[in-house]
Amino acid sequence: MEHELKTIYEAQQLDTQIIEKEKKLVSAPKMIEAMDQEIEELKSKILKEKEIIDELEKERRKKEKELDIDKEKIKKYESKLYEVKTNKEYQALLKEIETAKVTNDKTEEDILILMEKIEELKKDFEHLSAQLKKSAKEFEQKKNKLLKEVETIDKDVRKLKEERDNFLSIVSKNLKATYRTLIEKRAGTAVVNLKNGVCLGCFMNIPPQLFIEATKNRQLILCPSCNRIFYFQEEFEEQ
Ligand SMILES: [Zn+2]
Repeated sequence: MEHELKTIYEAQQLDTQIIEKEKKLVSAPKMIEAMDQEIEELKSKILKEKEIIDELEKERRKKEKELDIDKEKIKKYESKLYEVKTNKEYQALLKEIETAKVTNDKTEEDILILMEKIEELKKDFEHLSAQLKKSAKEFEQKKNKLLKEVETIDKDVRKLKEERDNFLSIVSKNLKATYRTLIEKRAGTAVVNLKNGVCLGCFMNIPPQLFIEATKNRQLILCPSCNRIFYFQEEFEEQ
């Protein structure tokens, strides 16, 4: 029995490694997905910014057109000044010119504000575009590295599983079945050590007589609390 227990303990060591490696296999696609998402978010942010810039440019062109029309209007009024016959008409024209000029000043001011906003957004746009380029390159490298790692881990896992199965193949059918059930139901830990009368799987106290028996490794003893298989190792006790 002692040999069998030792064998199943070896299988446990391998399964612990397998589980750790499989965690990485699960996390890699998630990491890749997160990177892809970050790129997508950056892209949509840039696109939105471009839309706002285009919108503001359109508004600026509209205002400039308005300004041109109003400037023409003023010129027309000014040329009319020489044609009017009465002072009343003259005063009325002057008033029109004055009003048009006030409107133009306001339009010019609006255009300036728009240009400043556009300038600012363009800077931000450039900054985001550069960031996108940098991140895309960086992520591409990270992704390639991850995929290579996954490939290696995949190979390792296959090798470890083979080794584990070799160990399990020399264990009795019943013990193997118990082991597999526990691996499944006890978060990947089926075989545990004991220390100072405590199960190192669930950290519950073990009855003293059972503890003594378990440290002998002569028979299959399961923890009364978590049902895991005990395999005692001296060095653990000495620590
Ligand atoms: Zn336990």
